[in-house]
Amino acid sequence: MSEIRALLREDLQGRTPYGAPQLEVPVALNTNESSYDVPAVVVQTILERVAAVAPGLNRYPDREFAQLRTALASYLTETTGVTLTADHLWAGNGSNEVLSHLVQAFGGQGRTALGFTPSYSMHPIISRGVGTTWVDGLRGAPSGIFDLDLETAVTQARETQPDLVFLCSPNNPTGTALSLEVVKAVYDAAPHAIVVVDEAYAEFARPGTPSATTLLEGRDRLVVTRTMSKAFAFAGVRLGYLAASPELTDLLRLVRLPYHLSSVTQAVALAALEHADTMLGMIKVIKAERDRLVEGVAALGLAPVPSDANFVLVGGLADAGQTWQALLDQGVLVRDVGIAHHLRITAGTPEETDAVLAALAALDPSHRQEPS
Ligand SMILES: *Cc1c(COP(=O)(O)O)cnc(C)c1O
Repeated sequence: MSEIRALLREDLQGRTPYGAPQLEVPVALNTNESSYDVPAVVVQTILERVAAVAPGLNRYPDREFAQLRTALASYLTETTGVTLTADHLWAGNGSNEVLSHLVQAFGGQGRTALGFTPSYSMHPIISRGVGTTWVDGLRGAPSGIFDLDLETAVTQARETQPDLVFLCSPNNPTGTALSLEVVKAVYDAAPHAIVVVDEAYAEFARPGTPSATTLLEGRDRLVVTRTMSKAFAFAGVRLGYLAASPELTDLLRLVRLPYHLSSVTQAVALAALEHADTMLGMIKVIKAERDRLVEGVAALGLAPVPSDANFVLVGGLADAGQTWQALLDQGVLVRDVGIAHHLRITAGTPEETDAVLAALAALDPSHRQEPS
């Protein structure tokens, strides 16, 4: 072991960082980004707003990002029908930072976070980063391995008595949304826990999928996190946010670094929110491509998992790693999420769907799992 490595905190020894490969390939469908550029009309507003704040960059930004909180509250109110105000909102450089504020405030040494695997790999990484004990719960659904079963979740919440619970709906990497009954039941089963519902993909959910924001009223420990990285097609800006009780968001000010959202970030995010309809304009197309991907891979004899997100988890592969490489050899980058026999494919443009389906069709039949 190198000398520096030996100085690392003991609980971080042997851990690996988050690491989706960033490769230059013709078809990149591995991180659930939008394949569509920011529309020209929004680019124009962004340029104007950055020009407007540039002379003032000698000063620190608004530490409480009041205007942005108000704009995010309006966006959520309009899209979920739940009345939210600026003091319900909190934001950071990506929802990952918002999640890290939550674990810094409510997790840490001697505290426990519970999640249900497979789910977003950053939940345990962020939790452990501040010394929180991570409990890898089981999804345990009778209806299929990927839906989170209410009874299973409640039993584990009661047994663990966690300080934090992570739910993810629609779930990454499996793709399906969670029923609000599960959220309510877990909230009641873990009476001392902050319950986080990561809704990074909410805007892609199939019709009739309600947001957990509808449960916030009267539940002071419930938190719903969102991001502009996915449906908003704005991953490069790094803007994530959450909605929770004003008492809870107020406490997050204890752990955020001062001035964590730059003046440029605030201005650019505000510009995009003003154009929300335009920014969200490709969702219909992306959902159609997602559904085409599901049908296309099924027609190839593979096993897609139903999806409420902008990606599809595809099962039925003999060896996920080998297929991942064989697709990359054809210029198509997808995601090996570490689930045996499965790969996760982001829904992009119609041309990208064509390309990934063609690449899958071109594979040797030995890539397919033998029917059991
Ligand atoms: C992509 C993703 C995020 C987004 O993180 P940002 O930091 O906002 O880019 C959050 N949660 C889940 C489950 C995701 O898949």
